[in-house]
This record gives sequence, structure tokens and C-alpha cells, in this order.
Amino acid sequence: MTTPPAATQRPRILTGDTPTGALHLGHWVGSLENRVRLQKKYDCYFLLANMHAFTTRSEKPGEIRRDTIEIVKDWLAAGIDPERSTVVLQTEVPAIAELSWFFAMLLPFNRVMRNPTLKTEIETKDLGDKYSFGFPMYAVGQCADILAFRPLLVPVGEDQVAHIEMCREVARRFSQVYLNVNPKTEDPDYVKAGGLFPIPEALVGRIGRLVGVDGKNKMSKSLGNAIFLSDPPDAVKKKVGKIFTGRQSATEPGDVGNALFQYVEAFIPDAARVAELKDRYARGDNIGDGHIKAEVAEAISALLRPMHDRRAAYEGEAGDRKIIEVIREGTERANAVAEQTLRLAKDAMGLGFWRRTLSVDRPH
Ligand code: ATP
Ligand code: MG
Repeated sequence: MTTPPAATQRPRILTGDTPTGALHLGHWVGSLENRVRLQKKYDCYFLLANMHAFTTRSEKPGEIRRDTIEIVKDWLAAGIDPERSTVVLQTEVPAIAELSWFFAMLLPFNRVMRNPTLKTEIETKDLGDKYSFGFPMYAVGQCADILAFRPLLVPVGEDQVAHIEMCREVARRFSQVYLNVNPKTEDPDYVKAGGLFPIPEALVGRIGRLVGVDGKNKMSKSLGNAIFLSDPPDAVKKKVGKIFTGRQSATEPGDVGNALFQYVEAFIPDAARVAELKDRYARGDNIGDGHIKAEVAEAISALLRPMHDRRAAYEGEAGDRKIIEVIREGTERANAVAEQTLRLAKDAMGLGFWRRTLSVDRPH
């Protein structure tokens, strides 16, 4: 087992992704970019929420397993360093499932069901009234994903802020109920006041909600409107070409608040060039959508190129085996932290009957 130097002295970060498909540019600008940046300063835990993938795809375990491995390839390609940061497989951290149960008791049922992110997901993923009992449970489970690691920061996209708010409520409530922390305590003072969990804060990326190439919905793995981090330049070009603006000609004054310009701002690194494009577009100064799309596609492919180079080290079955080892090592480290949190939580709840230890074996 490799333990990063002085890992436990650095403040912690927890965040993650559900293995429902490969990662896309929305993940990059919303969260991944922050993760790569912050891994030097923080002790980072990146969670593969594979149990949550079962809430909408329980009949497709093979796909979930595949996506779990692919997401780690995306992470490493994007610049996550497994020597520094910890990759966590949710289903092999039992403390998370146990904490989920206890946290479910601290949240009123209607509070969970009113969660706006859940409501939007039910709509956009067309889950109707047929979603499983487990589906809304994932929002409670996510509180446990986070609090098991007692992090200070949770780097996420905008859609996750409602979930983090619920997690903050659970964190406060636990310490109030089981550790007699005064409900009037200020958030930053919870641990000082005897609470178990720091009240974690959402850290939203520089673009909290990147629109998909449909120009309407949030870019999402499940909605068929995503540019994936693994997309080669021709696929990027084709997808960027689809972004709808409704503009008719290069001399028509354009709306720089449209979907295409969100991409200009997000991916063209040269601020002066962005300002120039905006100015000419707004005035209809003979600049066509096609030209701008070509520039955007080029900038995106330049961003993705080094990721593709790093990804090449993890091709094929040998690559899969390396990835599984990264997950195994990370999960072993993660269990040490999560078990400690669970033990402290159980002690606080009068459940500290005896100690237990967990071990993580090599894969068979
Ligand atoms: P799904 O469609 O399965 O919900 P997703 O594409 O929404 O997938 P998640 O795994 O739910 O991806 O999200 C992982 C992280 O990426 C979260 O922090 C989320 O807020 C962020 N994120 C996802 N899509 C976007 C986006 N379009 N813009 C900004 N951040 C995003
Ligand atoms: Mg999502």
C-alpha cells in the first residue's frame, strides 16, 4: 500500500462521479479541473459512485463495471495523480452504506423528495413515477459519501449544490443530536464545539453548468449531448458544428449569451481573442458561426490532446488491470479514513460496542 506523504495533515476534499458513462467537458469545467488543481494542496478522495449507478441502471451491471473503469481512465488522463490522490470505490467502503442508514433517519422524507436536483433528474431522465425506491436514496447516500471523509471542500458542478446543502444539514444535525452541539453554532465552528463533521462547502467550477451541444440542457452523460474527454478531433468538430444558434448570416448581430459563446468563453484560452470574437459577433462584423465553431473545436482538441496522450498508457486489458490496482490501493486508504469516521459516529450514537477491522484483498 502506498500512502501519500503527510496525507492526513492536509485538509480533505471529497468529490466523485457516477459511472453512468464516460466523462465530458461539463465535468472538466464544473469539477475535474478544480480537482486536478487542488490535489497538490489537499488530501483528495475521488469517489466512484457505482452503487448510485445501480439506482437507474440496476439491470446493466456489465455497463456499470465498464464505466467505473473508464471513468478512472478519464481521471488519470485529465491529470489526477493516483500517487497523490485517492480513488475510492463506493461499493467497497461499507462505512458509507452504514452511515447512509443513520443519515436517512436525520432527514425528513419530504425534505429529500423536495430536493430540486432530484426533481430535475426525474424529469430530464424521464423517470416518471417508475423510479426505484433506491433512486431518491442516492441523495441521502451522497451525504454519507461526503461525510465519511469529513472534508472541508466538495468541488462540484452547479446542479450538485442542492445535494451539498442537504449534506450540510445532516452534518449539523448529527452533531446537535448525538454530540450536544448547540444549534446556534456557526458553521466553521462545529468541530471546535465538539461536533464530528466539519460543515463542508461546495466549490463550483469556473463554469457551473456547461450547456450540451443541443444548446438547451446541461451537458450530461445520459442525454446524448456531450463532448467526451476521449473524443478525437473529428468527433469534436462534428459535435461543435451541431451547436444551434439560430443566426442566419455572418453580418447579422449575434447574441454573445448563446450556447456557442459559452463554449468560446470556456475553451478559448486567450482572453483578448475571446473579447475580439465577442465584439465582432455582437456587431455582425462579418464573422460566421462556422468560423467560430472551427476555432472552438480546435481549442477543445488542444485541451484534450495531452489527456489522450496520458490515456494511451491505460489501453486494453493490461490498462484495465492497472486501473483496478489504482482503485484497490485507493479504496484501502479510503477505508482507513471512513472506518474511523464510522467508529466515531457509532461511539457518539451509543453503538460503540466493540472495534472491527476491514481488509482489502487482491482481486481474484
Ligand atoms: P448523469 O447524466 O448520469 O447524471 P452527469 O453528466 O450529470 O451524469 P454526474 O456524474 O452526475 O454527471 O456529475 C459529476 C460531477 O460533474 C458533478 O459535480 C456535476 O455537478 C458535474 N457536472 C456534470 N455535468 C456538468 C455540466 N454540464 N456542467 C458543469 N458541471 C457538470
Ligand atoms: Mg448528474
